[in-house]
Amino acid sequence: MEQFRDAIMSGAGGDDIAGLPLPDTYRAAFVRRDDTEMFAGVDSSDKDPRKSLHVGEVAVPELAPDEAYVAVMAGAVNFNTVWTSIFEPLSTFGFLDRLGREGQWGARHALPYHVVGSDASGVVVRVGSAVRNWKPGDRVVIHCNYVDDQDPSAHDDSMLAANQRIWGFETNFGGLADLTMVKANQLMPKPTHLSWEEAAVNALCNSTAYRMLVSRNGAAMTQGDRVLVWGATGGIGSYAVQHVLNGGGVPVGVVSSPDKADLLRDLGVEAVIDRRAAGYRFWKDEHTQDESEWRRLGKDIRALVGNDPDIVFEHPGRQTMGASVFVCKRGGTIVTCAATSGYMIEYDNRHLWMKLKTIKGSHFANYREAWDANQLICDGKVQPPLSAVYSLDEVGEAAYQVHHNLHEGKIGVLCLAPGEGLGIDNPERRAEIGEDRITAFRRHGA
Ligand code: NAP
Repeated sequence: MEQFRDAIMSGAGGDDIAGLPLPDTYRAAFVRRDDTEMFAGVDSSDKDPRKSLHVGEVAVPELAPDEAYVAVMAGAVNFNTVWTSIFEPLSTFGFLDRLGREGQWGARHALPYHVVGSDASGVVVRVGSAVRNWKPGDRVVIHCNYVDDQDPSAHDDSMLAANQRIWGFETNFGGLADLTMVKANQLMPKPTHLSWEEAAVNALCNSTAYRMLVSRNGAAMTQGDRVLVWGATGGIGSYAVQHVLNGGGVPVGVVSSPDKADLLRDLGVEAVIDRRAAGYRFWKDEHTQDESEWRRLGKDIRALVGNDPDIVFEHPGRQTMGASVFVCKRGGTIVTCAATSGYMIEYDNRHLWMKLKTIKGSHFANYREAWDANQLICDGKVQPPLSAVYSLDEVGEAAYQVHHNLHEGKIGVLCLAPGEGLGIDNPERRAEIGEDRITAFRRHGA
């Protein structure tokens, strides 16, 4: 893959890139099927991605007609890579085996190793015979919605497709590698004003937050809406607060340290709650929640923004869902895409039905939503919350940081890119948008 890196770095054209030979193997981060039981009996927080994530050579898979190979310049760590690497809530090899039973092309994915990663920026190096809109040399970012276009259920909202999958989590050949293989309908233009690593971190979390808040498939936020955002400097939360501010809403950002609270204020969020300083104890013990603590959170929100939140942007799950349902405004929406602290949820249903609230499930985004969310990045209206950058060889440590909530925003991973700050094609645009805005998280994390 070094030849591809050198060609990309020297500005080679698409024909030159298309003429370079593909190697038989490439460097990738993966977990091993044989390791699936390695953490049996270990407490979840002690399961260590540094032990289960390996970096080594794997075989280049055969390309299907509707796919493209992309030389990956940078990738990113998402929480799903943490889930894969600790084999929770289940081993992702089950997903690969199910895909493997779908047919000839699916069978490529069921392997003794799982190459992880659901975000990447890079350059197209080959396209299959059925690909029309992309060609070698195109600079791209990749969204992770992996859809079977021959399935009728995929043709209204593709997230409703019966066999919708997340690339690099429910499929093999993910983005934490020097090469990846994706469907052509996962490709989107790389924002020209961003470096490889700044461009790589956005698609998964930005698109997820966009669907949850902005899309009519989510909470369909409108001007003036007050939106409670848990984990407001985390992966999805840091995009959520930007979408709320852009859309004329009022974000109430919850974080867990004064440092994160400062960062949030720098982003323009005025209503900030430090949940650790506030010391909320929504659970008295493992089985009992405390309504008076929900009430205290509700009062704190009203003191900051004058009303209950129209929308709650929910993802911590078990620890917070009872409080989220309680504090949401009469008629409001709790939109959820995850359950980091536990998926067996408990809330008081009386507060839901008597106050006509809605709980809305959401998951990633369809191509249109991902494309629109990417356009906001291209337009400089949403900034990449890149806070730290690791090399591919350090991917275990990067996943460990996310697993233990030691990071802010997003962590980028350099794959073929030989260093940070490369790949910026439009420095004038970058200057217009403002270096300080683009690098707010990076400077904060430094
Ligand atoms: P992240 O970068 O780790 O951020 C999550 C934030 O949530 C943390 O920074 C933390 O912020 C807050 N948090 C964690 N535990 C909490 C608790 N018990 N109570 C209150 N707040 C808590 O992760 P992420 O990338 O934002 O992802 C968050 C979750 O969404 C993960 O489970 C991920 O798998 C899921 N996800 C789902 C989709 C989808 O399509 N369905 C897409 C993206 C992510 P503070 O400590 O500062 O409060």
